[in-house]
Amino acid sequence: MNLVALRKSGPSSADPRRILEPPLVASPPRFKAYSTPQLDQIPQVAALPEEQRFAMRVVSHVLPFRVNDYVIDQLIDWTRVPNDPVFQLTFPQRGMLTEDHFDRMADALRRQAPRSELKTIAQRIRADLNPHPAGQKQLNVPRLDGEALPGMQHKYDETVLFFPSQGQTCHSFCTFCFRWAQFIGDKDLKFASAEADHLVDYLAAHPEVTDVLITGGDPMVMKTRNIEAYLDALLDPRLAHIQNIRIGSKSLTFWPYRYVSDRDADDLLRVFERVVAAGKQLAFMAHFNHPRELGTDVVEMAVRRIRNTGAVIRAQAPLLRHINDDAETWNANWRRQLQLGIIPYYMFVERDTGARCYFEVPLARAYEIYRDALRHVTGLGRTVRGPSMSAGPGKVEIQGITEVAGEKVFVLRFIQARESHWVQQPFFAAYDPEATWLDKLRPAFGEEKFFFQAEYEAKYGATNLK
Ligand SMILES: *Cc1c(COP(=O)(O)O)cnc(C)c1O
Repeated sequence: MNLVALRKSGPSSADPRRILEPPLVASPPRFKAYSTPQLDQIPQVAALPEEQRFAMRVVSHVLPFRVNDYVIDQLIDWTRVPNDPVFQLTFPQRGMLTEDHFDRMADALRRQAPRSELKTIAQRIRADLNPHPAGQKQLNVPRLDGEALPGMQHKYDETVLFFPSQGQTCHSFCTFCFRWAQFIGDKDLKFASAEADHLVDYLAAHPEVTDVLITGGDPMVMKTRNIEAYLDALLDPRLAHIQNIRIGSKSLTFWPYRYVSDRDADDLLRVFERVVAAGKQLAFMAHFNHPRELGTDVVEMAVRRIRNTGAVIRAQAPLLRHINDDAETWNANWRRQLQLGIIPYYMFVERDTGARCYFEVPLARAYEIYRDALRHVTGLGRTVRGPSMSAGPGKVEIQGITEVAGEKVFVLRFIQARESHWVQQPFFAAYDPEATWLDKLRPAFGEEKFFFQAEYEAKYGATNLK
């Protein structure tokens, strides 16, 4: 562990000059990542039983795997493996594949099948795992002068997503990632853009857009000079209507040194300051599944340094079996976020993709967890909305479970929708204790369709509610 001389954190100060104080970390750790071929080189993994290691190898030939020393040494409690939440969050587990898929790959590895065959098997299995949920590839790609812009998505009026090409990996991969298909080297499954120019031109032509969400992967894997190019492009005078620049990142969990001791950490914070000084909100959209991720000195320091630039940090995460499917964990997570000045934002339902079978939690249970966790935070924490499903038609929140005219129902609403007039309209689904996604729900009161469904089908050619 390299954090030998971390300065004890004093009270947070709004003075941005604080970020210059050296040295924050005596010997800055070097980033070292491990992926499938290096699995057995991780000493803590080498100490696990052979059967477990083999299972991990099998799964990591199908689903993306990448982890680094900080996660291994400071976030995972190896005495609690395999049940440790951060181990579940980053390391492949047997149950992440169906028996059938697992056996197919296990077989091939046991008979030492050639690489090309392993690849074919992996591709077939992946194709069964719904690599692009909620019609992302077909429905959300924006066009400029008739040309599709592949590194962008524009689903909701006010917000454009941008996927910079150098930001399409992460410091470590999440086992439940809904963008996992982007990390397996299949060009066809990837959307990324090298073009800040296209982004600026597109935004200039869309005055209704107020928010740009730079996402990935994780844009914070980029060097500062690359991030800087994109952020500076967004300060173009033609883009006065862009008020909020969001950055979606898991780096506070996986590599907080990015903001503390990496060579270009201070430069990065300077760029954040510049965005804020230009009159935009820099919204740092962080991702914390478990309070453990907010427990080290270095993450505390990283949070403080980001906040000192004037950026605002919000937190969102999916609810996942094996990692955070209880109210106590969420309550502790939100309380810790508030203590660090982070604003709780969204609780998501795990999407229908990848290893979903391993992580999914019924909607009814998700709602109870949200409700119970929320009961014991102050109003400052009740900014968090959820549980929310990012489905084809929009983000659908489970607002409650109740009885209407003698029928037990889910009360639902869109918090975001393809059609803005769907937003905030309450609607009802028949209660179903097993349902895990919108497409499994039926309208309440014997109705044929949900209120938005005919329009969704007609306008977007949709045939389901995934
Ligand atoms: C969630 C999401 C957004 C942002 O929605 P907010 O409710 O404004 O945070 C934008 N685009 C897509 C495709 C999304 O899934």
